[in-house]
Amino acid sequence: MGNIILKWLKKISIIRLSRFQRTCFIKIFDTLYKMITTPSYKEKVAYAMIAETGAGKTEAYFLPVIASMLLGKISNKFNLKLIAIYPRIALMDDQFRRFIMYLYELNKLTKENKIVIGIDNTYIPRNEKVLREKYEEYEYRIAWNINKGLIFKRIRCPVICKIKEGLEYECQSSLKYDPNQRFIMCSSDHKLYARVFKEHTYRKDTDIVILSPNILLQRLPEKSFIRNIIDESDILVVVLDDCHLYYGLSGSHMSLAIRRLLRLISSLNKKILLLGISATMASPEIFLKELTGLNISEILQPEEDEMERKAVEYYILIMPETVSMKRVKLHKESEEEFEEELKPIKPLSTMIQTIMCVMHNMKRTPLKYKGIGFVDSIDVLHRWYYYMKNAEEDLRLFEYRVKLNPKDFNCNMCSRGPYIDCPIYKVGECWWFAKFDKYIYRSGEPLTFRIYYSKRREKLDKEDCILTTSALEVGYDDPKLITFFQYKGPRSLISFAQRKGRVARSPTDRPVNVLVLSPYSRRDNFIFNNDDYLLNSKFNELPLNYENYYIQRSHARASILDYMGYFSSEILGPPITYEQEFSSEHRKLLKNIL
Ligand SMILES: [Zn+2]
Ligand SMILES: [Zn+2]
Repeated sequence: MGNIILKWLKKISIIRLSRFQRTCFIKIFDTLYKMITTPSYKEKVAYAMIAETGAGKTEAYFLPVIASMLLGKISNKFNLKLIAIYPRIALMDDQFRRFIMYLYELNKLTKENKIVIGIDNTYIPRNEKVLREKYEEYEYRIAWNINKGLIFKRIRCPVICKIKEGLEYECQSSLKYDPNQRFIMCSSDHKLYARVFKEHTYRKDTDIVILSPNILLQRLPEKSFIRNIIDESDILVVVLDDCHLYYGLSGSHMSLAIRRLLRLISSLNKKILLLGISATMASPEIFLKELTGLNISEILQPEEDEMERKAVEYYILIMPETVSMKRVKLHKESEEEFEEELKPIKPLSTMIQTIMCVMHNMKRTPLKYKGIGFVDSIDVLHRWYYYMKNAEEDLRLFEYRVKLNPKDFNCNMCSRGPYIDCPIYKVGECWWFAKFDKYIYRSGEPLTFRIYYSKRREKLDKEDCILTTSALEVGYDDPKLITFFQYKGPRSLISFAQRKGRVARSPTDRPVNVLVLSPYSRRDNFIFNNDDYLLNSKFNELPLNYENYYIQRSHARASILDYMGYFSSEILGPPITYEQEFSSEHRKLLKNIL
């Protein structure tokens, strides 16, 4: 057993765990072992795992849980299952790929005792029939490809192929799902024990289920979930990743959903280890207690000297002067222009100039070229959008800066790069150098914009920049986003963190975050002079109110369904189909009870 684990770690290139990962490994493995072998040991244990991106949190919990799972399988003494909940689909897909890569190597080392993973989110169909029927719908089309009757999941094979020591590459072949055998086969013959239909995910022999919070709400009363996942195990590990995202109204819903899940698990007499995983937060034990109702026994985090900053972000805070003195000096010969320049500067026009300046000049590549801009007022959003479109598409103002010989402007000084003594560059108006920069994606073309506040998200594909309100604050992920704009100070730190979190998901991205602030707002002046207020926020107070009357009321109703699901799974045989499972039995029960 120990041998297999060591071989496995070597295979997946984890030869040395960091101190933080080692601490977590021992703690989690040990706790699970005690919970299983000592009957008098606690039934429920909860740990918080708090570390910045890049600290290896995923491995820190995944490896000990899988090791315990394998121990249970080999010894045939207990059954351990893992339920991992991810609030963001993009992160979930990313983790799913990583897990199937790790499991591929492990499953190759064991004869029987394969570890099987299943996934469930909006892009996952109930079964083959549903997928084939609804294939044309957007949700399925972007996640699936049906070619000559064969079903392909639109992700690439994550298996690492080794040519020789030190020379390895990711397989990247396409992945075909076999609905009869319930596994994935890559075109280079890597067999992956991964289930990508709902009906297959909730089978007895699935060991790991990864899902999203809204899906959890749907599964709680379902018999296949209760019977095949919860009741089939002796001990469950529930992982809440990115749990600092559960706040406000949706977070309060989530906290009651978690309570329902925990209640379900304990009413079936199963033990539970809960892991709340998050980026830095001020008091995780208080927050997680609120979120889950469990007392946090320990906070696992890297020690001070282990912290290493990997991600780099650029911040640019811009606040116009109320009157431009530099330009006044530049144009002092003409009385008329002097008058014009003395008019107060409008922050919105600064915002528009800033977007043009940043997006036409920053390094953009075909893979990372998009921007997203946030503002809190729909009225301003519309004006922003129309002025922006007008400046780019109708007036083509950028041509003065980036195109060869527009009209008669040509700066010899700046043709090789910004020249510090160019008088026009000094006042920020000479961008002549930009036209020679090969890193500017689609240089010489106008930026395209899209406004978004409530329409469907599928149309957001092509534009260079999306202008929006809080509507896209949560749950919108596009790997092409590389720059973030905020017009006027954000309403709250959490909302700011959410918004800029849309951009640059990978630690190597180096996004540009731009805030344009108004000189006429007290709040904006405060932010401009206290930038550490924005940047060093540790999510101090995450608002969470699971005692909200309306939320409690809706979950009280839903928990009746949970109970009926639990009850019906007790007295009726194994589930046959989804329709039978849900509609007829529940309706019968409803009729009897109501
Ligand atoms: Zn492969
Ligand atoms: Zn110049």
